Amino acid sequence: MQDNHDRKWPGEPASPKGRAWQDPTRAVHGGPRPCDQRGLINPPVDRASTIIYDSVEAYMDRHQGLYDEVIYGLYGTRTTFALAEAVSELEGGCNTVITSSGTSAIALALTAFVAGGDHLLVADCVYGPTRKFLTDVLARFGVEVEYFRPDIGAEIAGLCRSNTRLIYMETPGSQTFDMIDVPAITAVARSRGILTALDNTWATPLFFKPLAHGVDISLASATKYLSGHSDCLLGTMTAASDAVYRQLKDAAARWGNCASPDNCYLVHRGIRTLDARLERHQRTATTLIEWFAQQPEVVAVRYPAHPADPGHAIWKRDFTGASGLFGVQLDGLTPPETSAFFNEFSLFQLGSSWGGFESLAVPAWPAPIRDFPNGEADGALIRIHAGLEAPQDLIADLAAAFARVRALRGQGQAS
Ligand SMILES: *Cc1c(COP(=O)(O)O)cnc(C)c1O
Repeated sequence: MQDNHDRKWPGEPASPKGRAWQDPTRAVHGGPRPCDQRGLINPPVDRASTIIYDSVEAYMDRHQGLYDEVIYGLYGTRTTFALAEAVSELEGGCNTVITSSGTSAIALALTAFVAGGDHLLVADCVYGPTRKFLTDVLARFGVEVEYFRPDIGAEIAGLCRSNTRLIYMETPGSQTFDMIDVPAITAVARSRGILTALDNTWATPLFFKPLAHGVDISLASATKYLSGHSDCLLGTMTAASDAVYRQLKDAAARWGNCASPDNCYLVHRGIRTLDARLERHQRTATTLIEWFAQQPEVVAVRYPAHPADPGHAIWKRDFTGASGLFGVQLDGLTPPETSAFFNEFSLFQLGSSWGGFESLAVPAWPAPIRDFPNGEADGALIRIHAGLEAPQDLIADLAAAFARVRALRGQGQAS
């Protein structure tokens, strides 16, 4: 059989990689060129633990290659580095560390830079497990965590101390979709030498560029939109500078965090269609929100792209699009009404991850774990993920759910 190793493959496309490309093109062509991987369009899946060396000299020096070479399976194979390259291009970052999950990316980014005695400022609207990590793990190591109101803006200066090491943000916030004034906060942080990190899972780098807004580390659960197919887990930590990248890579290595090459392949493949999928998620979310807004039981919609959302002005200034996840505040659902609403959907499914092709609906009660009020009313805040189904089918499913609730309320009034 002919071995292809020595064959010459066609070179790069007319526009050299990364130069003056728009994001949709970057998503389609990001990472190594086919001519650098034997003509393959997507990176091959390299699985390995042991890597062998040519000489004892190369073996002894291997750890110098931690940051950009394949030296041991734990630290990544070519498949991992290929995805890191594609994500870095989209985030506009210096380099990216791929981790086993979004949760591990958050935990590693936090531990990479803080030590006992440090003070950490964290947005009150962060993802629940981020909060658990801070309380259950970092606090045990003597790190002091203080939450701030998501709308704090430049007033964050008043909370900064001499031992404040890092400001951690997530926007829009989990469940409540709060918008944070990122440039106002990063300006304060930079003037004081404080690092900033931001969970960019909701927007993806196609709709928001944290690093261009002064953030040092952009984090994401690649499990969500980057993968897009609800069947694998991965996280990304993209650094604005090489020094930050090296510290993140060291942390991932020391904690033994490994991203599976198979999942790296799946996420890289998912990124190829990210732009097309997000456009559709956004369009369907907008259609569903217009429909929700007409229902008398709906008190508020939480989606920063909606003109009535309190975070709309910031979203419009800093973001270039909105994804398919939003919140709907109903006028209070009793437990039986909640069951009637959620248990008989035919398309919407109950599940906590999102960003895949399928629509999801779950109830959310963020208030008990928050330090500050978030405008939540009694009853369920519903979190909807608008999937790629036909919007008319989704609306029919939602209309039936509202009809079930109205039937229960009607019975209550009749008795
Ligand atoms: C889901 C999610 C995560 C965690 O991602 P996993 O890959 O499931 O560990 C982190 N941040 C946000 C905002 C998320 O929604």
